[in-house]
Amino acid sequence: MASSFRAFLVNDLFGDPALYVGLPWARRALLFDLGDISSLSAGHLLKISDVFVSHAHLDHFVGFDHLLRVLLGRTKALRLYGPPGFIDHVDGKLRAYAWNLVEGYNLSIEVHEVGPDRVRCARFACPCGFRREDAADSVAVDGLLVSEPEFRVRCAHLDHRIPCLGFALEETVHLNVDKTCLDALGLPVGPWLMDLKRAIRAGRPDDFPLRVAWTQGSRREERCVALGTLRREAVRTSPGQKLVYVTDVLDSASNHERILGLARGADLFYCEAGYPARDVDRARARYHLTTVEAGRLAAEAGARRFSVFHLSPKYRDCPGELVAEAMGAFAGGAGTLPTREGFYDTSQPHENAGSNPR
Ligand SMILES: [Zn+2]
Ligand SMILES: [Zn+2]
Repeated sequence: MASSFRAFLVNDLFGDPALYVGLPWARRALLFDLGDISSLSAGHLLKISDVFVSHAHLDHFVGFDHLLRVLLGRTKALRLYGPPGFIDHVDGKLRAYAWNLVEGYNLSIEVHEVGPDRVRCARFACPCGFRREDAADSVAVDGLLVSEPEFRVRCAHLDHRIPCLGFALEETVHLNVDKTCLDALGLPVGPWLMDLKRAIRAGRPDDFPLRVAWTQGSRREERCVALGTLRREAVRTSPGQKLVYVTDVLDSASNHERILGLARGADLFYCEAGYPARDVDRARARYHLTTVEAGRLAAEAGARRFSVFHLSPKYRDCPGELVAEAMGAFAGGAGTLPTREGFYDTSQPHENAGSNPR
C-alpha cells in the first residue's frame, strides 16, 4: 500500500533530529523536532504549518531561528507544540531580537505548551513585535493535540530527565481510488481526486455533487457526479496509516508503557537509538535508548517499518554496527507482524523519500 505521508529525516543518522512530513493531499507539511533544518529548501519550509517539538534541548530546537528567518514577511499562522516550559523557550528566542520596522509583516506564531493535565496557549504576532499574548487553556484528551478531517496528532508524555513528548500522526482513513473503475465511469485521474477524498473524509452525503473538469485534446470537459456513485464504485477504504516519532527517552517501565500505547500498530516508527548495547550504562546516564532497546520497542509495538535516527556522534565511525543491532532486535523481537521491515531513511529532502524503504 502506498504511504500516506511523504516523510523523511532532514539530516543524517548523526545529525540533529528533524522529521519532515509532507501531506500529499495539501500543499502543506508537518515537522517533528526543529534541529538544524538549514538543508531544507525554502519551498519545503514554507509548507510547514505545524511543528511538534519533543523538548527544547539545543539539538531539537536550534532550527527555530532559521524557520523564523524564512517565514518572516509571509502572511502565515505557524503552530508550535512542545512540553511544559515551551512557551517561555519560544518567548526567550523571540525576545533575543529587535522587532521595530516590521509593520505590514503578518506572521503569527501560536504556541501550545502541552502538560499532562492541560494545554497552555500563547500567541506571538509579528505586527505586535511578537509580544506574548496568553490565550485560553485547553485539555488534550487522550493526548490528542490536532484533529482534522484527514489526520490526527497525539502525544505521550515521556521522561528524559526533563519532560519530553513522543508523537503519533494518524491518518483518519486510508482511501485508494481504483483507476479501472474510474475508466468504466468515463472519468480521468487528476487533481479532482483530492476533492473526492476530502469530501469523503468530511462525511459528505451520497447526493453531494462533485465537479470533475478535464481537458481532452482541445476540448474542455466537465461533469458533475454524485459522491455516492464514486464512493460505491471507485473508492476502496482501509484503516488509516500511522507514523510515530519517539526520541530522547530513558528505557524505564513508565516510558516503555507510554511508548507502546502511542506506537502500537504503527506503519512507520521513527525511534532514536543513541547508543550501542555495549554502552547501556552511558545511555541510561544520558536518558537515551540503546539500539537494542529501540528495536525491541518497535517490535513489541508491532510496527510495520522501523527507522533509527539520532545516533550519538561518538559512534560516527561505526554507524553500521548500531543500525544492525537495532534492526536485529527489531527482526527478532516479540511482535507478531510478519511484514516487519527495517529501513534506513537518511537525509533525502525531496517529496518521496519516506515511501521508498532503503
Ligand atoms: Zn535531549
Ligand atoms: Zn537529542
